[in-house]
Amino acid sequence: MDQYAVVGNPISHSKSPLIHAEFAKEMHQELTYSKIEAPLNGFTSRVREFFEQGGKGLNVTVPFKEEAWSLCQSLSDRGQLAGAVNTLYLNSDGQICGDNTDGVGLVNDLKQTGFSFAGKKILIIGAGGAVRGVIQPILNEMPTSLTITNRTKAKADSLAEVFSEHGLVVSEEMGCVNGPFDLVINGTSASLAGALPAISSDVFTPSTVVYDMMYAKEGTVFNRWAAQQGAAEIYDGLGMLVEQAAEAFYIWRRCRPNTQRVVKLLRDA
Ligand code: NDP
Repeated sequence: MDQYAVVGNPISHSKSPLIHAEFAKEMHQELTYSKIEAPLNGFTSRVREFFEQGGKGLNVTVPFKEEAWSLCQSLSDRGQLAGAVNTLYLNSDGQICGDNTDGVGLVNDLKQTGFSFAGKKILIIGAGGAVRGVIQPILNEMPTSLTITNRTKAKADSLAEVFSEHGLVVSEEMGCVNGPFDLVINGTSASLAGALPAISSDVFTPSTVVYDMMYAKEGTVFNRWAAQQGAAEIYDGLGMLVEQAAEAFYIWRRCRPNTQRVVKLLRDA
């Protein structure tokens, strides 16, 4: 049976095996999908071992996405630009290929809600690995502008420089962001620590769509705060998680499962 897995450290919390098992069931695909906790200094050898033993595909999570990128012998355009990959497979020559499906996961999740990026003014807070992965897929949707702000401004500057040839991308100091925006994405890990990025509430209007890449059953700190500031349409990153998995499933199996059913299943769990 075809074997797939997610590699990370730690990995016990991962919902990927459940998501892919649901996809496989729905699409009548015979496969297994397991969790692999690679030692922090043993990612590359664990990946090679997996493929040598006949494994078909891997998802990669924290902290190995950049190392996976370096390991790849072939990269998709979006994986190349992201500087990090979350999906690995072998091509017909046996080379390790990498792709980054996080960005398209976020874009597809927001599109499912009816949101259209075209002509919109977008703010992304954060400049870490996840944000780097979402910029190009968002720019492909032709927004009017994309503003990046980050606690460490130099990282936002560097992303704006890398991506400015692909669209209107600017970086701003957190305290000086000039709102409002049609879409505000929190791509920081601040919510993990129950903290808020130091952003002005002027970025929101009642029609601003708000998206926190993190997810939490009781809602994230950021999303609760955005609601208090009057934002009415607010989403967390659970849909992104399922959509990035669906894109990986498509890369491996060439079929697209129903993501909304699995998002509902996870929310109800
Ligand atoms: P990184 O560690 O690469 O980056 C963290 C980012 O958060 C940096 O920009 C950092 O700023 C910022 N940050 C951290 N703490 C604070 C704070 N207290 N105030 C302001 N900014 C802060 O993480 P990732 O990019 O990998 O992940 C970011 C988020 O995205 C996480 O919450 C993660 O769970 C989520 N994610 C969700 C996915 C999904 O499928 N839903 C997929 C991937 C990620 P600085 O540069 O100054 O340190």
